[in-house]
Amino acid sequence: MTMAFDHTQEPLVRVNHLSKYFPVGHRSQLKAVDDVSFEIYKGETVSLVGESGCGKSTTGRCLIRIYEPTSGEVYYEGKDITKLSKQEKKEFTNKVQMIFQNPYASLNPRMTVKEIVGEGLKLNKLPQDQVDERVEQLLETVGLNKDHMSRFPHEFSGGQRQRIGIARALSVDPEFIICDEPISALDVSIQAQILNMLNRLQKELGLTYLFIAHDLSVVKYLSDRVIVMYLGTVVETAETEELFSNPMHPYTKALLSAIPEADPERAKSSRRIPIKGEIPSPIDPAPCCRFAGRCDKCMEICRQSVPETKEVSPGHFVACHLM
Ligand code: SF4
Repeated sequence: MTMAFDHTQEPLVRVNHLSKYFPVGHRSQLKAVDDVSFEIYKGETVSLVGESGCGKSTTGRCLIRIYEPTSGEVYYEGKDITKLSKQEKKEFTNKVQMIFQNPYASLNPRMTVKEIVGEGLKLNKLPQDQVDERVEQLLETVGLNKDHMSRFPHEFSGGQRQRIGIARALSVDPEFIICDEPISALDVSIQAQILNMLNRLQKELGLTYLFIAHDLSVVKYLSDRVIVMYLGTVVETAETEELFSNPMHPYTKALLSAIPEADPERAKSSRRIPIKGEIPSPIDPAPCCRFAGRCDKCMEICRQSVPETKEVSPGHFVACHLM
C-alpha cells in the first residue's frame, strides 16, 4: 500500500534527536533510545521495526508522553509536546492514542466493556445517553455488538479484547494511533483479521499510524515507510517497496533474509544471512557502530566511530560505514 506523500508539507509528527536513557546503578545508563529522528506525515502508516529491546516501544511511549524524553523533541502539528498548554494537552490526549501489545493487561478487569470504551467520552463530559449510543456504535465498528457492553474483559478471547482496545482508542476521535505490536500476542488465525480491520479503519477515518513490530513480514503489506531500529538507534529508513527490494544496511538485509519465501523458485535462490550472537546490552554502549559485534561486513572503522546517516537515494537513509 505504499503511497507517495507530500514530504514538503509540515509532518504531523516530527521526532528530533530523541533520546531516552534510564539510570542503572550509580553511574550507568541504559540507552533505550539514542538520538533518533524521523517524521510521520498525515495519513501515512510508518512502521518501526526491530528485535525486542531495540527501543521501538520506548520511542512510541515518548511520542504519547508516557515517558518524558531525556533529550530531543517530539513535535505534533508543529508543537513541542512537552511544552503544551493545559488546553493543548487535553486536545493532544484525544488526538493521539495507543493500542497496546497485550490487550488483556491494558484493560481494567473490574470494568465492563461499556465503562472501558466509554471512559474517554465521560472524561470529555459527554452525557451518559450519548456515551451509551457512541459505545454501541464503536463496538459495531470493531466487529462486536451491544450484547458485549455489560461483560468483563476476561469473558473475551484475545482477538476480541484487542477489538475492545481499538474501540477504546477510537472513542475520542483520534488522528494518530500508535499501534504497539497489536497482533504479536494473538493467534496467527486472528492476526490477519485485526490487521485488515486496522487497514479499513485507517481508510474510513483518515487515521495516521505508527505501527511498532518485530517482524518485517507483518509490516510489508501495511506500511508506507519502514524505519529499522537496532539497539536504540535508527539504522535504515525507506519507503516500504524500496526497503524490501533494495535493503542496504547489513542488519536490514539479515532481517529480510529471515522471512520465509512463499515462492518456491525464489526460495531456492534466497540465502538466509544469519545474525551472529544476541542483541547486546544497551547499557553504556561503546561509541561505535552498535551492530559491529554481529555484522559480517564489520571493518576497523566500524569499531572506532558511529556511522553517520546518509541519504543514499531520495527518501532512503542508511547509517553504515559501507555507504
Ligand atoms: Fe556493519 Fe560496519 Fe555497517 Fe556497522 S557500520 S553495519 S559494522 S559495515
